Amino acid sequence: MMPSRRALLRGLAGLPLLRCASRAAPTPLAGGIVGGAHQRGHRLRDGFRPAAAREEQIPVAILGGGIAGLSAGWALERAGFRDFVILELEDAPGGTSRSGSSPVSAYPWGAHYVPVPAPSNRPLVAILEEVGAVARRDGRGEPVYAEEVLCREPQERVFFKGEWYEGLYPRVAAAPSELAQLERFFAEMRRFARRRDRRGRRAFALPRALSSDDPDLVALDAHSMADWMKAQGFDSPRLRWFVEYGCRDDFGATLRQTSAWAGIHYFASRLEEGRDEPAEFLTWPEGNGRLVAQLAKTAGARLRLNALVADVDPRTDGVRILYYDDSRREAVALRARHAIFALPRFLAGHLVAPWRATPAPWLSEAVYGSWMVANLTLRERPRGRGFSLAWDNVLYDSESLGYVVATHQSGRDHGATVLTYYLPLVDDDARGARARLLATRFSDWCERILADLGRAHPGLRELVERVDVYLWGHAMVRPRPGYLWSEALAASARPLGRLHFAHTDLAGMALFEEAQYWGIRAAEAVMRDERHAFQSWLV
Ligand SMILES: Cc1cc2nc3c(=O)[nH]c(=O)nc-3n(C[C@H](O)[C@H](O)[C@H](O)COP(=O)(O)OP(=O)(O)OC[C@H]3O[C@@H](n4cnc5c(N)ncnc54)[C@H](O)[C@@H]3O)c2cc1C
Repeated sequence: MMPSRRALLRGLAGLPLLRCASRAAPTPLAGGIVGGAHQRGHRLRDGFRPAAAREEQIPVAILGGGIAGLSAGWALERAGFRDFVILELEDAPGGTSRSGSSPVSAYPWGAHYVPVPAPSNRPLVAILEEVGAVARRDGRGEPVYAEEVLCREPQERVFFKGEWYEGLYPRVAAAPSELAQLERFFAEMRRFARRRDRRGRRAFALPRALSSDDPDLVALDAHSMADWMKAQGFDSPRLRWFVEYGCRDDFGATLRQTSAWAGIHYFASRLEEGRDEPAEFLTWPEGNGRLVAQLAKTAGARLRLNALVADVDPRTDGVRILYYDDSRREAVALRARHAIFALPRFLAGHLVAPWRATPAPWLSEAVYGSWMVANLTLRERPRGRGFSLAWDNVLYDSESLGYVVATHQSGRDHGATVLTYYLPLVDDDARGARARLLATRFSDWCERILADLGRAHPGLRELVERVDVYLWGHAMVRPRPGYLWSEALAASARPLGRLHFAHTDLAGMALFEEAQYWGIRAAEAVMRDERHAFQSWLV
């Protein structure tokens, strides 16, 4: 039987925001809204294109220092192609995988884990090896992961009807018919995981570009996960909650907003090759910030922070880029032979000169969900009824995804800690939700978080030393029905002359594996154009 651990995840609810239980005016909490750099980024909407104070030439310019951009730089460096720069808007690299730290612990601001990759995912194994996550190789030469990075037990618990329970699926008092549906769902996912096409490709692979394109599989994309479950007779409320949790967790989307292909991919791609077990998780206190630090180290001084890309103009002989160096307060014109656009795709309409004049038709096809992430510093572990604190702590009837515990891997089960709380805004009106996200005051976020978690943790407010909030306006592209296998998505990945594209958006799903794949793919395309010899990571 497939265990109910994290690969099968966490979930939802749609309850209206609960009011804070306390009647007296609450004492303001220390902390604030610390990111992202909306003001800087929003200048682009207003046509910010300052006159350049100086000009530079460079063979390759990478725009964006998230996982995709950093991975492009990593692949160039590993192939001995050293002449590039990476331009990143923020004062720290990593984008949605960036992290922060306090005297108590490092913590993630977004991405917090990767599943143990298939050994065939060589670039991910390579970067994991670089950060010391691979303890050794086994007799078959396959990586064995270090204990300190494999998520330790207990991995998950769920707060259900007033009590914490182990695992993510609340089995307590579940009707036999509900448990039977759960088993049937797992069996179906195992069937998808085992399936290979005529070319030997997995039905659902990570990165998804390696998946089979058998027509019956591709056809799943036309339906929502909600409709697919209904058609399969999966109507158990607990199972639907469980699967929706997965969609909200990975895609920031409800069952109805998620393509059935993506929903199944979430489960089937994470079942280990040749086994029916879900892959273990690799995690660090700062989440995927550990991988960011290693990638940024590889880039070294070639990574330019506080660098806002304002204009990208592909010409026949290369790409002209205008960026604003916020540290020196000057605009710089960069003449690059090639450029890699590793920025969220919606920015292409504002930045890429020909598309400003005539927008590419696919630009309006991507829908982005917003997220609020809060790091709560606590002086002591929170109290709660039932099963003990786990890495991932999920509330059944909550709009949030609950929280992960930054100190979990340390093995210490008492004392100060940091909880990273995740709230995806899953409104159908994504734009309206984004406006609400940015307009909500810090004190209102605090009350909302405490009201949500306070149900499971009496006395939580007294333990909170500070709350820091990060707002992700365009956090994730939604794998909405019909999008993943659409011409619009395929077209958005095609180069424009010497301008190549990379970003997890090109996969239609926000995951480390996807961002890394697209970054490396773009770097390899550039090296091919430059006739630079290299060994591909992707074959
Ligand atoms: C809340 C949250 C939780 C997540 N959790 C996980 C997880 O646990 N595991 C996982 O695998 N994935 C997770 N993800 C998905 C995550 O998005 C990907 O793993 C990955 O980090 C995407 O990288 P990217 O480079 O494609 O994009 P981005 O992270 O969007 O990087 C783009 C970069 O471009 C920069 N930029 C933007 N505009 C400009 C400009 N004009 N000039 C210069 N630079 C600019 C940005 O600052 C950013 O650094 C999560 C995402 C979110 C939002």
